[in-house]
Amino acid sequence: MHLARFPRLTLGHFPTPLEPLTNLTRLLGGPQIWIKRDDCTGLATGGNKTRKLEFLLAEALAQKADVVITQGATQSNHVRQTIAAAAKIGLQAKVLLEKRVTDFGEEYQRSGNVLLDHLLGGEVMAHLPGGTDMQQAMEELAQQLREQGRKPYIIPGGGSNPTGALGYVACAEELLYQSSQQRLRIDHVVHATGSTGTQAGLVAGFTASNSAVPVTGISVRAPQDKQQQNVWELASRTLELLGVKGALPREAVVANSDYVGDGYGLPTDSMLEALTLLAQHEGILLDPVYSGKGMAGLIDLVRKGHFRKDENVVFIHTGGAAGLFGYRHLLESGSLRV
Ligand SMILES: *Cc1c(COP(=O)(O)O)cnc(C)c1O
Repeated sequence: MHLARFPRLTLGHFPTPLEPLTNLTRLLGGPQIWIKRDDCTGLATGGNKTRKLEFLLAEALAQKADVVITQGATQSNHVRQTIAAAAKIGLQAKVLLEKRVTDFGEEYQRSGNVLLDHLLGGEVMAHLPGGTDMQQAMEELAQQLREQGRKPYIIPGGGSNPTGALGYVACAEELLYQSSQQRLRIDHVVHATGSTGTQAGLVAGFTASNSAVPVTGISVRAPQDKQQQNVWELASRTLELLGVKGALPREAVVANSDYVGDGYGLPTDSMLEALTLLAQHEGILLDPVYSGKGMAGLIDLVRKGHFRKDENVVFIHTGGAAGLFGYRHLLESGSLRV
């Protein structure tokens, strides 16, 4: 594997820190919990999509695109980071939002990431009903733009295709390097998984480097079978892009869908507990849609004795705190103390 063969921009602050969560570790009574601060990638409040965009937008520039199209749910962190990255390299960004979550009122629809989308100069072309075929809607928009003589570059939801997943191959390399520098044996990696590029890239990276670090993706949407299948497919295609021979074993992909609750973006008690614990004992902001549910999964697995006390578990904080401002109704309550 030789990542430098792929075109790549510099959009973020890397490496992101790998730090101990001392208070959380003490509160839970072990294992040793570490956090990889991919919420601190630096691009307009940061997050995991920045890594993917370094490869995706390099490809857009190589194809001489003059406009970037992407899509996401109303409070999409991916859309916000894509608009910011496009602004930095001087490309226009036209985005489509999907009303996947509808019952949270005005602030959810307009504050948080949506506010930043506007500030960063993104053009929200449409705010479509939940369940719309968003890929199809992007293709139609691209076709209209081509007819006007433009050169659109389409980024799939979450930036999750083999090119985008290279960003998390790079993160796997970064983690292994830090592990060596910090004399830290990494026994397990846990993070929130949605559109699959993060986990697919990590699994591809750890596989390609023969490091056998197990990764557990905590699903925020799809049931386990579907999520594992989707991650496996993208990880396999990413390994192919990297030129790594041999089939990826199915067992290399582990997703856990026990913490989704009622659905994408809908709060759960365990998410609220995780959000509050990390805020009040570590000074770290998680988000209600992704990292809060991911951390809820990690905390529950720890309580169930899934890890040995002497193991080192790394939680990848994938970002998302900008979305907190869309959830005022949920968080304002003074009773939130743990
Ligand atoms: C997109 C996102 C994820 C999920 O990453 P995928 O690559 O889509 O699986 C996790 N956390 C946050 C904050 C995100 O924005």
